[in-house]
Amino acid sequence: MVCGDSLEPLWFGANFIRGENDMKAAIFHGAHQPLTIEQVDIDQPREHEVLVRMVATGVCHSDLHFSEGLWPHPAPAVLGHEGAGIVEATGKGVTYVKPGDHVISCVSVFCGYCDQCLTGHPNLCVNASAGLRGKEEKPRLSQNGKPVHTLATLGTFAEKMLVHENAVVKITDKIGLDRAALIGCGVTTGVGAVLNTAKIEPGSDVVVFGCGGVGISAIQGARIAGAGRIFAVDQFENKLAMARKFGATHTIDASNTDPVKEIKALTGGRGADYSFEAVGLKKLAEQCFECIRPGGTATIIGMIPFGQKVELDGAAFLSERKIQGTLMGSNRFRIDMPKYINFYLDGRLNLDDMISRRGKIEDINEAFRAMKAGEVARSVLMFE
Ligand SMILES: [Zn+2]
Ligand SMILES: [Zn+2]
Repeated sequence: MVCGDSLEPLWFGANFIRGENDMKAAIFHGAHQPLTIEQVDIDQPREHEVLVRMVATGVCHSDLHFSEGLWPHPAPAVLGHEGAGIVEATGKGVTYVKPGDHVISCVSVFCGYCDQCLTGHPNLCVNASAGLRGKEEKPRLSQNGKPVHTLATLGTFAEKMLVHENAVVKITDKIGLDRAALIGCGVTTGVGAVLNTAKIEPGSDVVVFGCGGVGISAIQGARIAGAGRIFAVDQFENKLAMARKFGATHTIDASNTDPVKEIKALTGGRGADYSFEAVGLKKLAEQCFECIRPGGTATIIGMIPFGQKVELDGAAFLSERKIQGTLMGSNRFRIDMPKYINFYLDGRLNLDDMISRRGKIEDINEAFRAMKAGEVARSVLMFE
């Protein structure tokens, strides 16, 4: 079709005529505003870049945090960071993947040569610019020539994603990309917090606060690691039922009981060996620390709102109680994600039942609402 010289050639009735470099994306315009579906221009891959056709994206609590302004993010932007797709094109110098390869994206894009990368902690890579184009370069995404930002250099709420090659891991095509997408953040964060960050011992008593996608993944990590008892804490009965299905041996309804007292009672007054906070709330982080035994370890997985302080009882440190943070499950994602896929293929990691709702990219705001209402473990949006 020829557009002629009209100033509005792209809009004919209900259908966009889409240029080669156009794609549909859910755009963030600022906190407390719904995401809107718009056309975005995406550039071709340059050196060390990979263009991925998205097949599935999970909707993660962190996306909601940005959308609600709990964590700041520049606009306009494509949010979304838990995605899986198929490589469509690669830029110069890319040898790790080729068109047709199935990949998962990860926010832990790494440079490969800083101190953290070279000491085995690529998730803490200090080269924040490693995954980005230079400021003087053409932006990867744009609208009317103006740059469009991406969450963590990814932006999976779009039909395509243009990223640095160190932002993806190549995976087997034996796993469906809807399941693989979950591994991109929630599963890696939760399972990794238990296996990599806390490194729990078999037989341990483990507590998990919050039974959304990340909490359920921590419960599964504890089960895979051979935990003795797994106490799941949540305020929604449907999520506690889900926690039992994924391996919790005990559930505690925080809406009508004090979880710290309950855990102390269930462990003979001692407290748990390990606890994990998977929501990102001050109160839960404090309870996470209060419920562990002397010498026990509390791990905070959730994103506590920017600037929020957490208060702990100073005397508790004399009993060698420990509290630590974790970022993306202390992942080395090109090693961990294929391992988690093997757990899935072996029947040890249940991903099938974690997808409680499916939709299209147009359903993104509804997926946020369902997440806030505590209705889902994970919503997955499909692009085809
Ligand atoms: Zn996430
Ligand atoms: Zn690095």
